[in-house]
Amino acid sequence: MRTSWDNFERETIDHLRALVRLDTTNPPGNERLAADYLGAALGREAIECVTIEPQPTRTNLVARVAGHDRSRPSLMLSSHTDVVPVEAARWTREPFGAEVEQGCVWGRGSIDMKSKCAMDLGLAVAIKRAGALPDRDLILAAVADEEAGSELGARYLVEHHPDLIRAGYVLNETGGFTLHLGERRFYPIQVAEKGFVTIKMTASGTPGHGSMPRADTAIAWMADLIGRITRTPMPRRVTPLMRSTLSDLGIAPDKAPPLFRPMLANTVTPTILRAGYKDNVIPGEAWVILDGRTLPGEDERSFIRELRDIVGPEPLLEVVKSGPPVEASPDTPLFDLIKSRTEAADPGSRAIPWMLPGATDSKFYAQLGATCYGFAPVRLEPRMPFGSLYHGNDERMPIEGFLWGLRLYTDVVLSFLGLRTEDVFA
Ligand SMILES: [Zn+2]
Repeated sequence: MRTSWDNFERETIDHLRALVRLDTTNPPGNERLAADYLGAALGREAIECVTIEPQPTRTNLVARVAGHDRSRPSLMLSSHTDVVPVEAARWTREPFGAEVEQGCVWGRGSIDMKSKCAMDLGLAVAIKRAGALPDRDLILAAVADEEAGSELGARYLVEHHPDLIRAGYVLNETGGFTLHLGERRFYPIQVAEKGFVTIKMTASGTPGHGSMPRADTAIAWMADLIGRITRTPMPRRVTPLMRSTLSDLGIAPDKAPPLFRPMLANTVTPTILRAGYKDNVIPGEAWVILDGRTLPGEDERSFIRELRDIVGPEPLLEVVKSGPPVEASPDTPLFDLIKSRTEAADPGSRAIPWMLPGATDSKFYAQLGATCYGFAPVRLEPRMPFGSLYHGNDERMPIEGFLWGLRLYTDVVLSFLGLRTEDVFA
């Protein structure tokens, strides 16, 4: 039975609000709440789904709607169901209330990213309910633990259950929201994301008594090293993608505003600092955790070379964890579809390929060969910039912009599956 469009909109907003009400703050996560909700909704339409729990309550859900031509590269719609913690005292609304006020759904996850999760669920249900047969497999993934590094989520699935989630293409978060630059509107579509290299840097020195000051202690050396790191930018490198993105925006690479700087170099930021254990002892060791981020084309080794240029050969550098950068070509039928439909949905705007300085689950899916794009479209007004909502206080989703995004997203996904809107909606 085909659903009416109005009904589909109502159901998808209901899904969004229901998901926001489930407190899946990570840590501890408790994504099972979301997996149970999704499993029940999919089960009502007899959509096959599998849940994977690497640890109790840390549930990942994967569902599949089979297409008629399994030789075509499949499409996976992915979302993470965990959210970042809230400082409730700084919110003006109940963070897990999903209240509708001033035209918005308010709550943690309403943007990042239960909104896309709701769209994915609504679409899979609508397709199945209509009995429409996609021309390729459609996979739906709702995964745990993205906000803490994906160890129990996408990364776990890639390492332990690759056949469940191996896809030709993935649509994931971070892209398709309105970026206002002056009078112009852009829709960044994530095609690349930086890698990370987390490093423990240790400075050692001779310990001693606090009553006997010296200049050559581990703490003094560490203070100097951190000073150098924070004052010295890593070399600027304009990748071909960023060259074309900046030229689309009409920005010269050497005049790029601060927003773009992390996309034009490897970066390193001290984030945890420790030394000492007693007030009258000069410690023999001080260490710092450095959050390093690498551009596409770089790796652990090239990053450490650049870091050594700043800190010199002496301090001990140990890699704590790392993940590679990824970049997908925007030269695919799916990207073309996203670009043309987005620009048609907001005449006068431009959809452009984009690099995320952070990391998403796409990093892991790409290891199985998937072409991953960030496309979770939402139309945003200039007074409500994406950056202020993402992980921010009073996170909220403007309903009108969400419904605009839902129409665009549906249009792109159905077209890519070889379906017409009227195959699915009455
Ligand atoms: Zn997210």
